[in-house]
Amino acid sequence: MSQQSADLQGDGGRGADEFADMDACFDAFDQDGDGKIDFADFGRICAALFRNDKGIVYSCSDEKQKEMFGIFDQNKDGFIDRTEFKFCWNKWIKKIVRPVSALLVIDVQNDFISGSLSLSNCDAKQNGEEVIKPINNLVDTVPFDGICYSLDWHPADHVSFIDNVGKRKVHSTSPVRADQAQLYDTVIFDGKPPTTQKLWPRHCVQNSWGAELHKDLKVGKDPNLVYKGSNSDVDSYSAFFDNKRLSRTGLHDKLKEINATDVYVCGLAYDVCVGSTAVDALAIGFRTIMINDCARGVNFDDIESTKKRFIELNGIIVESNQVKAMVEGRDRRPELGYKLALELKKEEQNS
Ligand SMILES: [Zn+2]
Repeated sequence: MSQQSADLQGDGGRGADEFADMDACFDAFDQDGDGKIDFADFGRICAALFRNDKGIVYSCSDEKQKEMFGIFDQNKDGFIDRTEFKFCWNKWIKKIVRPVSALLVIDVQNDFISGSLSLSNCDAKQNGEEVIKPINNLVDTVPFDGICYSLDWHPADHVSFIDNVGKRKVHSTSPVRADQAQLYDTVIFDGKPPTTQKLWPRHCVQNSWGAELHKDLKVGKDPNLVYKGSNSDVDSYSAFFDNKRLSRTGLHDKLKEINATDVYVCGLAYDVCVGSTAVDALAIGFRTIMINDCARGVNFDDIESTKKRFIELNGIIVESNQVKAMVEGRDRRPELGYKLALELKKEEQNS
């Protein structure tokens, strides 16, 4: 549907301006002027909110619209009155129209590109270097409110290195014994609780060339860096927490500082650290987007299952040429609106 035909059909060629003033917005959508937004009015709000930069409306199922309506109809009388609308407008509509967006660039380090854990030697034979150009393009052209770069940053005796496998006691339930362990095997180390660990080649050792961000990656003058995996005994795939959730990096605090609503995740490796970071971002409550052409991974099946799981948790996956319009609030996805509504419901229940 073109912008023009949308207008002709009477649901307006509405842009962000339509949502600039709360009372005007309420009056515009309260079609019968009874001072209440009913479910049909709410459907028109969704149609106006959830569209792309060309005015094409995204479909949003009746079921999801009903669920969201129920979240904003706090007294459950079947209408959103002006008081309820204030909450809806401040906490939901405003954030959808004016998101605060952060880009997380995960582990674009030499070792994953041409070093000891080069993705080109892994199952999927992907080339990690290919993410650099589209990521640089995003950094150059998209007005993100913040950009963070994570670095896998291991001490020499790190638990994930195959050559360290004999340094720790293997638990009796481990599927593989230390002296038989091969690269990419999973072992269980003794401890309270025992730790399941995949064995990788020695990689990203602190202050080594392999741990440096690739020289062609644009990071600007004073980049926001997040280091992970620096505890010898615990691996850290996510840029938020280590795998045992014993400690947090500073990433969540950095995102809170800028009041981020939306988190875009890209980098290496898709099915390991990118996926783990993105799933954690959702769990924390961020509207989260993975950028498909800005990520490369280890194993095709794992990349597919990472994507599937992420979408089931209300994340979305886009290509990098779609990001700018989303960050500028001109392309507004129903999946992200739904995710935000679910977060508001959770907040309500906890308050
Ligand atoms: Zn690592």
